[in-house]
Amino acid sequence: MLQITNYINGELVPPIGGAYLDNFEPATGKVYSQVPDSDERDVNVAVEAASRAFPSWSHMPVAERSKMMLRIADLIEANHDALARAESIDNGKPLTLAHAVDIPRAASSIRFFGTSIMHRQSEAHFADDKAINYTLRQPVGVAGCISPWNLPLYLLTWKIAPALASGCTVVAKPSEITPMTAYLFSELCIEAGLPPGVLNIVHGLGPKVGGPLVAHPGVPAISFTGGSATGAEIARVAGPMFKKISLELGGKNPNIIFADADLEEAIQTSVLSSFSNQGQICLCGSRIFAERSIFDRVVNELTAATDTIQPGDPLEEDTKMGAMVSKGHLEKVLACIETAKEEGGTFHCGGDTPAPEALPERCRDGYFLRPAVITGLGPECRTNQEEIFGPVVTVMPFDDEDEVIAMANSTQYGLSASLWTRDLDRAHRVAGQIQSGTVWINCWMLRDLRVPFGGMKTSGVGREGGQYALNFFTEPKNVCLKLNK
Ligand code: NAD
Repeated sequence: MLQITNYINGELVPPIGGAYLDNFEPATGKVYSQVPDSDERDVNVAVEAASRAFPSWSHMPVAERSKMMLRIADLIEANHDALARAESIDNGKPLTLAHAVDIPRAASSIRFFGTSIMHRQSEAHFADDKAINYTLRQPVGVAGCISPWNLPLYLLTWKIAPALASGCTVVAKPSEITPMTAYLFSELCIEAGLPPGVLNIVHGLGPKVGGPLVAHPGVPAISFTGGSATGAEIARVAGPMFKKISLELGGKNPNIIFADADLEEAIQTSVLSSFSNQGQICLCGSRIFAERSIFDRVVNELTAATDTIQPGDPLEEDTKMGAMVSKGHLEKVLACIETAKEEGGTFHCGGDTPAPEALPERCRDGYFLRPAVITGLGPECRTNQEEIFGPVVTVMPFDDEDEVIAMANSTQYGLSASLWTRDLDRAHRVAGQIQSGTVWINCWMLRDLRVPFGGMKTSGVGREGGQYALNFFTEPKNVCLKLNK
């Protein structure tokens, strides 16, 4: 059975302690590889390697750094099919989604930051004739990048690309639940000729690997994507050490449909925004608010479309819904579904595991769940307050703008929101009042890598994307030169 290795100082190496964890294929429920169960010792070696590599990587001419990153992006594209297949097997997501989203976006993150560094500008300020101030943007040093399992390769590259482009060296910690594409990626970095120590990838459990990485005094910046509780723990450790921290956390995103919207498009997109990747995208809309006059239509059409989505083998071309990422996560989502029932929710479809005979033979022990549409619950109940991170959506009616804004803002989260209306004035008015880092108007998940990305409230601290990410990995130093005239 394949044993995944760490990638430290340019080499693929086993964990120092020699221990491994089983890695399950979610679609079959079977162990198909093993992932290093690394610990503090592996983290320390990786940080040492990254520290040694920092002076030469940070002083390398920008054009060379850029060329190296573009070589890695080219290799991702050249290995697109193998990476997409690995991502689908590792994560349970439909192969078509890995093809269309995860792998191209991973390549484009690296290409985007690898080229944007070539066009980076700095600021200069003239103080009358007396002085000139200019800003030196210097890489912070070794960056710790910790990523989750839902878009494994994409979210790993989304963090490491701006760090490497800025001149930082990196110790990355992918999710132990989906380590495969990070491992394949480390092979591509070797093939590209990335100098030893510039990127190090240490696999293993959060508290055993992520914990020591966050607490390591030689790692001044931590970029983290994952759950809000883990983000709070990271802030608790990194805050008193005065580290830079960027936290991309959970969400409970509202999807607001006004009666004047293009309903056909709003409902079609709502099916995607509720259930893509089995509802395991931080940007999925999990609370739909429909204006009362169109509430029944939204519920009926959403239910009809959702009921046609049958979970199936992620590797089949026509599968739209794959497996949940792990047994533990499936059980967590099923517990949330029980809560929704206890709270009095009406289930219009789904919310149960499919009958084994409805699945292909090889998938009968996999972690599948039928997508659920629920009504009859108010905005304050647990189902509408807590992140479920699965294929479960509630629909609630509203009567006016003020009411829906209050309901949309009533959770602790503030990651993203969608608004559906043809009234431009209203769209801008409501967008300005929704407490979230991103508001989509008449669309969902349209991404531009230049824009600030991140959440408000417990959805996170800091912004990634474009210059925001490049700035995060650098320290702006002001240099003031007196002008003698
Ligand atoms: P998680 O918080 O359990 O784990 C994320 C990563 O942190 C993993 O690599 C994990 O091993 C590591 N980790 C766990 N404990 C740690 C600790 N004490 N110290 C350091 N690292 C630790 O999250 P998950 O279950 O992998 O991912 C799902 C969550 O991620 C959801 O809440 C989802 O909303 C969120 N998410 C947010 C975004 C965003 O951009 N805001 C994107 C994707 C996912």
